[in-house]
Amino acid sequence: MTAPRVSALTTRQEWLDLRDRITIPSAMWVDGRWDEADGGVTSVISPRDGLAVADVTSAGAEDVDRAVRGARRAFESGLWSRLEPRERGEALIRWADLLDQHRDELALLVALEMGKPVIVAWNVELRTAINTIRWYGELADKLMDESPRGRNGAVALVTREPLGVVGAITPWNFPMTLSMFKVPAALAAGNSIVVKPATQTPLSLLRAAELSAEAGLPPGVLQVVTGSGSGVGSALARHHDVATLTFTGSTEVGKKLLTYAGESNAKPVWLELGGKSPNIVFPDAPDLDKAAEMAAWAISFNSGQMCTAGSRLLVHEDIRDDFVARVVKHLEAHVIGDPLDPATTMGPLAYAAHRDDVLDEVRQGIADGATLVAGSDARRDDGLYVDPVVFVDVDQDSRLAQHEIFGPVLSVLTFSSEAEAIAVANNSDFGLGSAIWTGDLSRAHRLSRQLQAGLVWVNCYEEGDTSVPFGGQKLSGHGADRSVHGLEKYTALKTTWIELA
Ligand code: NAP
Repeated sequence: MTAPRVSALTTRQEWLDLRDRITIPSAMWVDGRWDEADGGVTSVISPRDGLAVADVTSAGAEDVDRAVRGARRAFESGLWSRLEPRERGEALIRWADLLDQHRDELALLVALEMGKPVIVAWNVELRTAINTIRWYGELADKLMDESPRGRNGAVALVTREPLGVVGAITPWNFPMTLSMFKVPAALAAGNSIVVKPATQTPLSLLRAAELSAEAGLPPGVLQVVTGSGSGVGSALARHHDVATLTFTGSTEVGKKLLTYAGESNAKPVWLELGGKSPNIVFPDAPDLDKAAEMAAWAISFNSGQMCTAGSRLLVHEDIRDDFVARVVKHLEAHVIGDPLDPATTMGPLAYAAHRDDVLDEVRQGIADGATLVAGSDARRDDGLYVDPVVFVDVDQDSRLAQHEIFGPVLSVLTFSSEAEAIAVANNSDFGLGSAIWTGDLSRAHRLSRQLQAGLVWVNCYEEGDTSVPFGGQKLSGHGADRSVHGLEKYTALKTTWIELA
C-alpha cells in the first residue's frame, strides 16, 4: 500500500512564505473573468489573528442578474450543455488535476479564511473536494436513460435532461468541500451553475473557479457571485431564470429559501441543513477506546463546526463515568492554536460573533443545571480559540440537547435499554448523522432501521465516500448530495413516447 500524499510544506514559516507569494482573489468570477461588482467591498477577516486577508467585492442585485444571464447564455450556447458527455467529464477531471496541483495554495486559503488547520484543509477538505470533482467527471458519460417495455407498437424513452442555470448557496465551515458536493454534479449533467459562497469564505472557491477556466470550462458555465446572504443570496434564490436551488447551511435560512422559491418561479429547493447527531455507545462496543477517541473527534473536528458533529453522546448508564473520562482525555490532547502551524489539531472558531454565541450556549447549559466536566464558558485571551466543552447530566429536552450549537460542546445523555436509546436519539427535530457502537450485528441493523437520520455509522463516525448519498431527514433537509442520486436533482425527467407505424 502506498503512503498517503502529504504537502511538501512542513513548517508554519513555509506556509507564511506561501501566503506572501500568492495572489488573493478579491473580485467575483463571472463569464470567465474577474468582475468588480457594484455593491462595495467586504473584508474577509481571518479568525487566526483577526486581520483582514482580502477586501472582496460585493454584488448588487443587478450583478446577480448579470451572472445568471451569463450562465443562461453559456447554457444556450451549447458549448457545455451539448458537449459530448465524455468531453464534459474530461474537462472536470482536468479541473480536479489542476486543483490538486494547486492544493497547497487552496488549503492555505481555506485555513486563512475560516481557521481550519492547514493540514486538515489539505488532507480532508481538498482531498474530498478534488475526489468529488473527479468522481462526477468519471460519471459524466456513464449515465443511463431508460426505455421501459411500455406497450407493443410503441417505444418509450425516459431521459434525464439538464435544467439550465442551477443556483447554489454554501456555508463557511467547509468552503471547498461543500461547494464541490454540488458544482461538479450540476456541471456533469450539463447545467451552468452560479454559486454564492459565505461572505466569510469566498477565497478558495474564487481561486478554484479561476482554475476551471484553465481546465477548459467555457466562460459562464461556473459563476461565483460574492456578498451577503440577505442581498446576493436572496437575489439568486428569487431569480426567475434559476431553475433549481441547492443549499447547504442553517435550517433557519433553508426555510426562507423555500419561501423565496414560492414567491418567484416555484423552483425546487434542495436543502442540506443543521443537525444534532446522536452518537450511541453500548457496553458491548468492540473497542471502547476507539469509540471514545471517535466521540471526542466527532465533537471537536473542525472545532465542532460540523453539521454532522456528534453533539449528543448517548452512553449506556453502566459505562458512563469511565467512557466520559476517556473522551475528556482525548479532547485534552488537542493542540489548539494557529491553523498555519502543522502541529495544530484544532483551530479557532470562524468569527467573533459565533464564538460569543457558542460561549452563551455554554452559559445557558450551566444555568439549566447540566454539569460541566471539561472546558468553560470563559473567553480565552487568544482570540477566537475555545477549549472543547463536555456536559453530563443533560436533560434530553433541554436547549443543550436540542439546539445546534455548531461548536465543540458535547452533551452526554444516558440510557438503560435499546428502546430508550432510540427514543432519546429520535427526540430531535433534526435527522442528519447518527452512530451506533456495538458488537451485536443484529442490534446494529435493528437500530439503524429505527434511527430517524439520513446517515448511520456503525462502529465508526463520519465515514463515507462519493459513491454514497450524504444528506438528512426532518429539519436536516432533503435531497442528498454525492453519489449518482446527488446528480438527479440537477436534471429533469422527460418522457418521449413514439408510436410505431
Ligand atoms: P447560514 O447562516 O444558513 O448561511 C449559509 C449560506 O446562506 C451563506 O452563504 C449565507 O450567506 C447564506 N444566506 C444567509 N441568509 C440568506 C438569505 N436570507 N437568503 C439567501 N442566502 C442566505 O449557515 P452558516 O452559518 O454559514 O453555516 C452553518 C449552518 O450550516 C449550520 O446550521 C450547519 O449545520 C449547516 N451545515 C449543514 C451541512 C449539511 O450538509 N447538512 C453542512 C455544513 C453546514 P452569508 O453568510 O454570506 O450572509
